[in-house]
Amino acid sequence: MSVPRSRRAVLAGMLTLAGAAQAAGDAPLAREPWPGAKVLRGERYVVIGHRAHSGLLADLAARAERARRKVAAIWGPVRPVILFPETDAGAEVLAGAGASDGLAAMATADRVIVVPSGYARLSRIGRDVVVAHELTHVATGATRGGRVPTWLSEGFADYVGYSGSGLDVRTVAAELAGEVRAGTLPDGLPGPADFAPGAARLPQVYEEAWLACRYIAGRFGERALVRLYGGGPSPGGSGPPSHGGDIEAVLGLSPAAFAAGWRDYLRRELG
Ligand SMILES: [Zn+2]
Repeated sequence: MSVPRSRRAVLAGMLTLAGAAQAAGDAPLAREPWPGAKVLRGERYVVIGHRAHSGLLADLAARAERARRKVAAIWGPVRPVILFPETDAGAEVLAGAGASDGLAAMATADRVIVVPSGYARLSRIGRDVVVAHELTHVATGATRGGRVPTWLSEGFADYVGYSGSGLDVRTVAAELAGEVRAGTLPDGLPGPADFAPGAARLPQVYEEAWLACRYIAGRFGERALVRLYGGGPSPGGSGPPSHGGDIEAVLGLSPAAFAAGWRDYLRRELG
């Protein structure tokens, strides 16, 4: 499949369960298909579990519906298909991806795949954030796959994921706040390599991206953020939107002026 995959790492401490036990080692590779899968079908979502506990699946279905509403309110309609495999190895097979270490969920072009051990380590809010984050990738990827900068795709997914969570900015962006209070501001927006698994400052990089999107929505409006991503109605009515990632065209600012405004915002919000 040529569509870029995405994943949300279990990064920020605030998303995880306090004092959660480390997950036990993965069960042996389970590559068999899913005989007897449990399927929960809502009006607008489908949750499919492989030997998953019924209560856990019902809980995931409720989160799928909440995530669907969040994505629909900001971006547009999406019908979640969420798979809950028995093992992390099963998740990797479904995602066609390599190691799922440290991840709670992954997205492909049309579905969200839960990574059982990472998901189990998340708090209730963390689960909602991660499911909405990945579902945002599914919704936006269907039309925009790979056509916006990584900071915008990851930041927008977290923007939707954290919307309505009631969480304080300094709590969500605790790692970045620590750097800003110590007098260090990022030079510029993170590039694609900064989001690579295992990259240094991965938590801070996600937080930078999230706050760039939050800054845009706060200063220019949420619709401007959606337009920057290439979503929303196009000016002429029908036809594909054409502004994916073009800061100058959508916000009327040079990239340098935008970066300066974002750095000021980081200082104000986190300093
Ligand atoms: Zn992501």
